[in-house]
Amino acid sequence: MSPSGAEVIKEIRSQVDEVDPQAVRDERGRNGLVLVDVRESEEFEREHIPGAKHVPRGYLESRIEGAVPDRDAHVVLYCATGQRSALAANTLKSLMGYEHVESMTGGITLWKDRGYDTVVPKSLTKEQRDRYSRHLLLPEVGSEGQQKLLDAKVLLLGAGGLGSPTALYLAAAGVGTLGIVDDDDVDLSNLQRQVIHTTDRIGEAKVDSAETSIKAINPDVEVVKHRTRLDASNVMELIEPYDIIVDGVDNFPTRYLLNDATVRTRKPVVSASILGFDGQLSVFAPYVGPCYRCLYPVPPPAELAPSCGANGVLGVLPGTMGLLQATEVIKLIIGQGDPLIGRLLLYEALGATFTELKVHRDPDCPICSRDPGDISDEEMGRFPDYEAFCAAAG
Ligand SMILES: [Zn+2]
Repeated sequence: MSPSGAEVIKEIRSQVDEVDPQAVRDERGRNGLVLVDVRESEEFEREHIPGAKHVPRGYLESRIEGAVPDRDAHVVLYCATGQRSALAANTLKSLMGYEHVESMTGGITLWKDRGYDTVVPKSLTKEQRDRYSRHLLLPEVGSEGQQKLLDAKVLLLGAGGLGSPTALYLAAAGVGTLGIVDDDDVDLSNLQRQVIHTTDRIGEAKVDSAETSIKAINPDVEVVKHRTRLDASNVMELIEPYDIIVDGVDNFPTRYLLNDATVRTRKPVVSASILGFDGQLSVFAPYVGPCYRCLYPVPPPAELAPSCGANGVLGVLPGTMGLLQATEVIKLIIGQGDPLIGRLLLYEALGATFTELKVHRDPDCPICSRDPGDISDEEMGRFPDYEAFCAAAG
């Protein structure tokens, strides 16, 4: 006679190592313990243990390697009561070669009975589930990542060539707050590349035009308009409410000023620049990787300084670079992938080549070699003789 389901479960549970919730709580965050919730998505989204990864039992074999690539890792699985996690632990051990895997006794139910902490994630509305469904299907984003995007506050410097595509795609992705700093009006000559603006909005303030386009794509996004120029008097106040700064400015004094202010406030900057057929991109994460001044202690050669006058640019190039910027912003928000920290990406459109340069922190950097508190207002944004520098460019 075949054994009953209950007998099979009992037999499997006798072969699996079980661990008490108290031991899990005490060991959490130590010794590389990886906690994996194997319940269904609705259960995980209702409530889970902080720091737990989510791999539903139905997707165990196909997704566990994404969540826990190291088969020697100490893995603890849990479910609602300890039954599904025991079956999943058995699969990982006997079929997939995970050596050090345990099932948590009593599941999240016992965990909660003991009064241990849980996370009750904010839930997405029905409309948001539809709107972001292609994000929700990615384990790297999921509803947790989408919630991070909705909670994120990103400041875009400029609603121009780079700012336009970045803003449109960040808005579409559901970044909840987009601040835009721009004091310019829409001009006919902008429309060859600044795709957030339209012909019928020529003469309108760029921040207003950008807001109209963003709201049309995604009403979830709050647009904060800063119709001003970034300068030493307002930089600290402007960047203060934001998590990430997207730098698309086309002049060096502002770039140095922004760098110094973001090092002081330890805010990451996703920075891109474009000229002609060439683009550059990097992520400056203060005290993690190099800052802008580590790369450029002095400005690049004058003939390469776009702000010295109007320069030609291929219309699609800011689109390419702006979307790479948007991608880096999203990675930083959801905490996935390898951001371009300490790496400078060069794109050359005519040759269709990408080149990556490693860049290092400069131990003698005038700004980030020091404590943020030691950087005074007077020093911020000091830029070596800019007038003379542009004059030399002819
Ligand atoms: Zn530096």
